[in-house]
Amino acid sequence: MDKKKIFICGISTECCSYSSLIQNENDFEILNGKKLLKYINFNFSKYKNITFIYSKFYRSLPGGPVDKKFFLKTIENISNDIKKHTSIDGILFLMHGAMYVKGINDPEGYFIKKIRSKVSKECKLSLSYDLHGQMTDTIVKNINYFAAYKTAPHIDVKQTYSRAIKMLINGILNNKKNHIVWEKIPVLVSGEMSSTIVEPCKKIYKNLNIFNKLKEINDCNLLIGYVWADTKRATASAIVNCTDITIGKIICKKIALSYWNNRFKLVYDLQSYKLNKIFNVINNKKFTILADSGDNPTAGGVGSRIDVLEYVLKKKIQNVLFAGIFNEEIFRELKNKKNKVIIKDSISKKQISILIDKFYLKNDNAIVTSNNNTIIFTKYRKPFHYLNDFKELNINLKKYKILIVKSGYLSPDLKKLKADNFMILTDGFVTQDFKKIKNSFRKKPIYPFQGNFRYNITI
Ligand SMILES: [Zn+2]
Repeated sequence: MDKKKIFICGISTECCSYSSLIQNENDFEILNGKKLLKYINFNFSKYKNITFIYSKFYRSLPGGPVDKKFFLKTIENISNDIKKHTSIDGILFLMHGAMYVKGINDPEGYFIKKIRSKVSKECKLSLSYDLHGQMTDTIVKNINYFAAYKTAPHIDVKQTYSRAIKMLINGILNNKKNHIVWEKIPVLVSGEMSSTIVEPCKKIYKNLNIFNKLKEINDCNLLIGYVWADTKRATASAIVNCTDITIGKIICKKIALSYWNNRFKLVYDLQSYKLNKIFNVINNKKFTILADSGDNPTAGGVGSRIDVLEYVLKKKIQNVLFAGIFNEEIFRELKNKKNKVIIKDSISKKQISILIDKFYLKNDNAIVTSNNNTIIFTKYRKPFHYLNDFKELNINLKKYKILIVKSGYLSPDLKKLKADNFMILTDGFVTQDFKKIKNSFRKKPIYPFQGNFRYNITI
C-alpha cells in the first residue's frame, strides 16, 4: 500500500475588531518542520504508513485585525507548499477561529476553502479550534472532522490537536464515516463569564464527554465564540461529529439548549469591581492579584493602558507590582537617564509622569522602581501569565502586596500562587462592559445584547 500523506498548516489568532493595532508579519511567528512537529506533541512516528508534511502554522498573540494583504500572503505561501506534493490524503488545520480581516466576513472559512481548492475532492480535512472561535456554514461544508478545546482557561490544547489528528487518521486509514452537524446559539459572552472551571459551563462541558460515549457520536463540541469582534458570524455554537445525522442533530440541539437555558447563570468566574471600588475591597494583609481586564492582551487588548497605574499613584497605594505595561517610548527616555519620565498611552490618550528611583533593563523589559512600586514596561506586547516571566526578570513576587496583571480570568500558573484575586472592570478594547462596545453587525437578537426573546429550537 502506498504511504498516505497528511499536510499540516494553519493560522491562529484572536482579533478584536475595535483595536487600532493591525497585525502583520511582524506579529506572527511561523512554526514549520521539526518545530511544528514538536509543538503539536503528537506521536506521529507511530503511523508508519503515513507521511506527515509540516507546512506553515502562523500564530500570534491575540490583537487587532489582521492586515488583508498579509492574510492573503499566508494563503499563497501555504498553497505554494501544498503544490509541491501530489495526492494529499488529508489536511490538518490548526486555527483559533476568531480572526478578523477587514473586507472578509469569514476569514477562517475563506482560508480553508482556498487551501481545499488545491487538493482533490477525496482529500479529508480536519480542523482544530479554540472554543472562543466562530463557526460558519462555509467552514462546515469544507471540512470532514472538527475538534475544539473543552477547557477555558485552555489546558487541553494538545489533546484537542490529538482528537483532530486521530479522527483524520481514522478517516483516511479505516474510511470511518463522519458527518458534521451544527447549531448556532444566540448567546455571546466573554471568556470570563463562561469559564469551564465554574458552573454552569463546568457541567455543560462535562456532558460533552457523556454524549461522546454514544455509538453514533464521534466528538461533541461547544463554542462560546468571541464577543469583541463586531461581525455577522459572531455567536456561540454546538458542533457534533457523528456517524448518524439524525442522532447527531438531536445531540447537537441538546448541547445548544443546555447552554441557552443557562445563559442567565453566565457570570464572571472571579469577584469583579470597578477601579474606584477595588482597593476598598482587598485585604491589605494578604497578597492579592488584580486583573486589569479591559486591556488584556490575551483577549485582544493592546496592553498599554495606564488607567490603573494613574489611579494607584493618585491614591498613593504602595507595594504594587505592575506586570506589565507595553510602552516603547519609555526606553528612549530611560536611555537619557532622566529621573522623571512622562508615560503616554496613545490608545487612551492619557499621560502621567513618574519619578524613577532606580531601574534596570532585561530582555526588552524596563523594570522601574518608583515610590515603593515596581512597574515593568515592555518593548513588545507581553502578558505576564507565567511564573517564569517574573523569574526571568529576577522579580520576587513575595516582596509585593499587590500584583496587577493585564488579564481576564487568571492563568493556571498565576492561580498556583493561591493569592486572593479579583478582576478590575476597566476600560479598553476588550472591556467587560458590553454596553460600551459597538454593535452594528452582530445578528439580532443575541443575548445579552438583546434581552427578552425566544430561541427557536426544538428537539
Ligand atoms: Zn480561547
